[in-house]
Amino acid sequence: MSDCCTPRRPTGEPTPFERGAAEIATGRRALLGAAGGAIAFSTAALAGAPIADAAPGRGRRTAKRAYVLVIDGCLPEEIDGGLTPNLKKLRDGGLRFPQARSMPVMETIPNHVMMMTGVRPDRTGVPSNTIYDRKLKDVRTIERPSDIKVDTVIERMGRNGLRTGTVLSKDYLYGVFGGRATARWEPAPIIPISGHAPDVFTMRAALAMLDDVDPHLMFVNLGDIDRFGHTDVTGGVGIKALRRIALASTDALIGQFIGRLKSSGKWQDSIVVVLADHSMDWSLPHRVVSLAGPLDKDPFLRGKVQIACNGGADLLYWTGPRNQREKAIRRMRAVAERVEGVLVAHDRREPELRLGPEAGEVLVYCKAGWRFSDPDPVTDNPIPGNHGHPATHAIPFFIGGGHSAVPRRRASTRTARTIDVAPTVASFFGLSGAPRGGWDGVDLLA
Ligand SMILES: [Zn+2]
Repeated sequence: MSDCCTPRRPTGEPTPFERGAAEIATGRRALLGAAGGAIAFSTAALAGAPIADAAPGRGRRTAKRAYVLVIDGCLPEEIDGGLTPNLKKLRDGGLRFPQARSMPVMETIPNHVMMMTGVRPDRTGVPSNTIYDRKLKDVRTIERPSDIKVDTVIERMGRNGLRTGTVLSKDYLYGVFGGRATARWEPAPIIPISGHAPDVFTMRAALAMLDDVDPHLMFVNLGDIDRFGHTDVTGGVGIKALRRIALASTDALIGQFIGRLKSSGKWQDSIVVVLADHSMDWSLPHRVVSLAGPLDKDPFLRGKVQIACNGGADLLYWTGPRNQREKAIRRMRAVAERVEGVLVAHDRREPELRLGPEAGEVLVYCKAGWRFSDPDPVTDNPIPGNHGHPATHAIPFFIGGGHSAVPRRRASTRTARTIDVAPTVASFFGLSGAPRGGWDGVDLLA
């Protein structure tokens, strides 16, 4: 199952909202939104401790602000398409990274987790959107706060007396980041199937949080560019038209956000990090790879392989005897690489992948213009727009804002990556020390 499909949740499991609500022990309040509607934030700090610069003695006072805005699924070249004047202005006026890339697996949840942890999935425990959970013996979406095994920069900031806020448009992102931030918006209203709140609501919440909570770090996911088109299964012209509308409207909302930073006087103290979590690749209906059939035809593998489908990538898990694992890995790779549309089948342990055991034994990528649908070749992934495979590496990535730390009108030759966000933010705020084991990313403003 990919980013584009309904989250996989074992029967009887609570939704991310139910789980989040259970986790958040303290209060909740209604805030007046920009259009007069109530916007609910869950906050960690209301019971007797108003949202402020933390405990006496430990608190820090700083005017610095960092905003991380994720334009989910945006292609770098789309910023030059004439539909996104605000993004283009922000990109060209600050520090831009034309070589930027998403990290394996090029899916939403792992890359958002990499942004906030600064480390790769063999340390975060989050390699993809969908995994086969060996304990549960089922395929599931990663959406539990406990799925992230390491510290995030959100928690590090909190321990340093700095306020944080998450405004994430997708239900599983809200789920996986859970109660970490000082203030959290529960995405609503959620569009069925797409599982996300439209950007107009997400931005309204971000503006309300800016006014009311004024977090030092705000982490925002805008899902429309990714989602509009994903949910249109008719293909062709309809998708491109919806995507163009999404690009223009999301850009206008980002223009509002920048306008608010300037009118409120926050701009000169701010860095605004804008990036995508992955880009997007489109496939025609007949360009679908399904590995379940070919794997099941192999007498050695039959009934002993589980598949976690992630749109442009399939993760294969051996469930047979441990002492046959090496042979199984060789067989799974050989079977997969004979299937039309498959680009490559990696042994997950290849050191540059850094995916960790949650990703199973074999990572299979499809070619550009193809998608996976597993285990069912028709029903599991009918959506033309997908990511996860190397064709969706390239992302827009730039840092704007009025703070003097941001270079003006400069293109960097660095290959910026999603893992660089956390060390950049931590360094901007002068947080001492790296996480145990060090950062995998770097400070892009250094
Ligand atoms: Zn995404």
